[in-house]
Amino acid sequence: MKVDISQTAILPTPYGDFKLTAFREWTQNIHGRDCELEHLVISSMQIPAKPLVRIHSECLTGDVLHSLKCDCGGELEIALRLIQERGGMILYLRQEGRGIGLFNKINAYALQDQGMDTVEANEALGLPKDGRDYKIVEVIFKHFNLTEITLLTNNPLKLKFLKSFVSVDREEILAPSNCHNQKYLEIKKIKMGHLLP
Ligand SMILES: [Zn+2]
Repeated sequence: MKVDISQTAILPTPYGDFKLTAFREWTQNIHGRDCELEHLVISSMQIPAKPLVRIHSECLTGDVLHSLKCDCGGELEIALRLIQERGGMILYLRQEGRGIGLFNKINAYALQDQGMDTVEANEALGLPKDGRDYKIVEVIFKHFNLTEITLLTNNPLKLKFLKSFVSVDREEILAPSNCHNQKYLEIKKIKMGHLLP
């Protein structure tokens, strides 16, 4: 696995100052095409021995446009606040739309407008319901010498994967829900096994 690691730079934000380190990974997308993904690690200025970690997959519509269709933007905001308060890092992974990419995600949204749920829409397009890959996480953890973490997640698969190379406790992350993302959250719980109330 070929990965480049950038220098570390400081980013002032309304939440406080963070340190940024970019990781460039050569990989293949879900269509089997070679591609380059540039991920970002957003960390607190000091990283404690057992840091709080959030693995966040890019969601342009949620993170930037504050979409109400999903809970990504709200989760990112909670993670930024908690990491600033308690110390740790967000691994911002550039796997848009659960790994299917922005173009496919918008096509899936169009099918959702006609009544399909998130899983049905991906299946109708011949795409995986979750095409994400977390191999880069191990590389990042090694770079920061992380051996014990508290992971902010509701996703049992993410937790199981991490347990293969790090000691991990789970802490739930619950973004505010609204009338637009009720069904999305229900599908996440029922069809994808997320640990949601
Ligand atoms: Zn989202």
